[in-house]
Formats: sequence, structure tokens, C-alpha cells
Amino acid sequence: MQFDAQWLLLALAPVFLACIGWEAWHLSRTRGHIAANGAPDNARYAWPDTLCNTALALMHQGADKLAWLVAVPIYAYVYQHFRLTSWQPGWAAWLVLFVAQDLLYYVFHRASHRVRWLWAAHVVHHSSERLNFSTAFRQSLMYPVAGMWMFWIPLAMLGFTPTQIVSIVLVNLAFQFFVHTQAIGKKPGWLDYVLNTPSMHRVHHARNARYIDRNYAGVLAIWDHLFGSYVAEDAREQPDYGIVKPLGSCNPLKATFHEWFAMARDFARMPDWRSRLAALFAPPDWCERHDAVRFAPAMAGTPHSVPENNTEGEFGSRNP
Ligand SMILES: [Zn+2]
Ligand SMILES: [Zn+2]
Repeated sequence: MQFDAQWLLLALAPVFLACIGWEAWHLSRTRGHIAANGAPDNARYAWPDTLCNTALALMHQGADKLAWLVAVPIYAYVYQHFRLTSWQPGWAAWLVLFVAQDLLYYVFHRASHRVRWLWAAHVVHHSSERLNFSTAFRQSLMYPVAGMWMFWIPLAMLGFTPTQIVSIVLVNLAFQFFVHTQAIGKKPGWLDYVLNTPSMHRVHHARNARYIDRNYAGVLAIWDHLFGSYVAEDAREQPDYGIVKPLGSCNPLKATFHEWFAMARDFARMPDWRSRLAALFAPPDWCERHDAVRFAPAMAGTPHSVPENNTEGEFGSRNP
């Protein structure tokens, strides 16, 4: 019987659970409940957070299974009618596929932080204020609606079959489980030039001004170095995990849909079609910046611009 690649993540569940068990045990031996700054240690497991992450993983698995039913025939159609080349079975083909998909993942991930329509799905992954292996489970069932599957269509044009595409997408995602931990410290600097590491990805989950919207790597770190989005973890500045506007809930439904509702409200209240479209497809902080300009006299003293790279702007609840 042939293994169906679509079940890869579920097949790896025992490995993931073993890592979670090891990490929880390791943290209980090496770290207290309270961090050095007096706040609860954001590496430790807390039942509401972990259960929310697990529910989100199961919801995502169900949605993904349905999404492949639609996406696979589209990949097959593109493969049959528009592929530019064909590959002999072997390691060379898999190597090209791996590198190409990892580059497309980088593009998808960076776009997910800069286009609100995509951020509405991806925000789920960032909305916990803890970071441990279970944070990797925080995925959105709305990824198929946001259009994540479209980013892999070029792979079919490059001559890869739907089965190969699904396999490599899930291998990439499976690898990323292992970078969601605070139990593994910063490794020698050269490793951050090659692979996405726990240190690199801790930076990605942080909302500190110097860390936010950086380190988009899936497996290979080279893309962040090539495209200028790499920032190293600095021992003098601990990552502050979460999003600029805190979710304040461990309800998986609220985590999944809160940004979609916020986006719909902004879409409805915008005065013209140009700004309505911007509410959907501009950067996630566009509406706050738009309001700041539009209502400038009424908001005297409020800053009118934010750093270009700041996903949710400086108008979140951290800046009353
Ligand atoms: Zn992200
Ligand atoms: Zn992550």
C-alpha cells in the first residue's frame, strides 16, 4: 500500500508529541514559572494555550484535507497543459523541487505579513504570547480561503506532479515544527545562514520593534539574507511574543476569525472603493494609518506614520 503524503503531519504526530513531552520535562527542570522580568515564563506550557493550539491543529488538518480536494486537480491541470519541462525521477528533481518550494514559501510568508487578506489567516500562528513546540500547531483553517494553495501553482508549471507538490509542502511544514522552542539556544552564527533555526524563528514570533516582521524562512535561511529580512536574536533583548494588538483569548474560534471580522468591519466603513480594496489587500496597519490621516485634527498628538515593516503599526493597544 502506498503512503498518502497528505497524511504526513498526522503520521508524524507521535514524534511531535514526544518532542512536546521532552520540552515540558526539560523546562520544568531548568526554568521557573516566573521569568527574570517578573512575568510568567512564556516558554512554559499552560493548559488553555496548549489546548487551543491543539484544537487549531485539528481544525487546520480538516480544512487542509478539503483544500487538497480542490487544489490537486488544479495542479494536475496546470501540470498537464502548462508545464515547462519534465523531470526524470531522482534526487536532482527532488532537490530542485525542495529549493523552489522553499523560495515560494518565503514569498508566501512575507506576503502573509504585508497583505491583510493573507495576514487574516496567518495571524492565528502569531497570536499566542507563549512560544514552545505546541505553538507550531497554531494554524488557520482559513488558509485555503486566503489562497495559500495558489502559491504552489508555479511548481506544477516547473514540471512537478500534484503528489510531489503536496509532499514537499508538508515536509516543509513538518520541518518548521522543530524551530518553535526556547529550549534550544542560539547556535553558531553560520547555521543561521543556512537553516531556519529556533533562534531565528523566535525573532520571527516577537513583536519587539527591532524583531517584528523579520526572518520569514521556511527551511532555508538564505532567502532572508538574500532579500534583506534577516535579524539575529540578541541576547540583550529577549523576544516579546505575540501580536501588537493582543488577542487576549484561548478560544480557537476567536483566534481563527477575529481578524476576518475586523477586516470586514473596516471594509464596510471605508468611504470609497479604493480604500475598501486597501482594507483587504494593503498592509495590515493600513486602516489605522488611513484613520490617522483622515481624522488628524481630532487625533492631535497621535503619530501619523509607522515604520514600513511594522505589521500592525504603532496604533495597537501597546500605544494608547
Ligand atoms: Zn509569520
Ligand atoms: Zn512560527
